[in-house]
Amino acid sequence: MKIIAVGRNYAAHARELNNPVPGQPVIFLKPDTAALKDNRPFYLPDFSADIHYELEVVLKISREGKHIAEKFAHNYYEELGLGVDFTARDIQAKHKEQGLPWELAKAFDNSAAISPFLPKSGIPDIYGIHFDLQINGETRQQGNTANLLFSFEHIISFVSRYITLKKGDLIFTGTPEGVGRVQQGDHLEASLNGTQLLSFDIK
Ligand code: MG
Repeated sequence: MKIIAVGRNYAAHARELNNPVPGQPVIFLKPDTAALKDNRPFYLPDFSADIHYELEVVLKISREGKHIAEKFAHNYYEELGLGVDFTARDIQAKHKEQGLPWELAKAFDNSAAISPFLPKSGIPDIYGIHFDLQINGETRQQGNTANLLFSFEHIISFVSRYITLKKGDLIFTGTPEGVGRVQQGDHLEASLNGTQLLSFDIK
């Protein structure tokens, strides 16, 4: 299983980090060791003083594919969930400044919190999904997939030109605005269309 992630897929988030709105998807990977499941706590790592949350809709790939045409891409995922793309923003900022890859800021152990998945067939409008993140009971991020720059189908098609998608792979589809730092003792809860899917602690 691999985790593929899209950066800057909501214009308001690109702007809040002073990044240009991209002309094609910005892609990076996280290894399987990044997966944090079953609402287990996230332990702040010692190498960063600025770990950010990024709540994202996550697609679960349901069959193998390469060079998937956009018009058939909807056949390659049957379930959606939520994830938190934990990011060491201090390391990422330094690496961006130096033109270096982002892996140390994005791919570390447990950097991808992943919820249970819901069947796509039970979601009335894939491009009208409301999702939100509460920290200690306060809403910190709210997004709607209506505002995606690149659709799920476009992402699947684009990535599969370069990287074969396999059953069980996960795609983090980008975060809306409102990212920020997590602190020891924080409690995170995230919902998709009002259904709570994540509830875990920062330690
Ligand atoms: Mg992200």
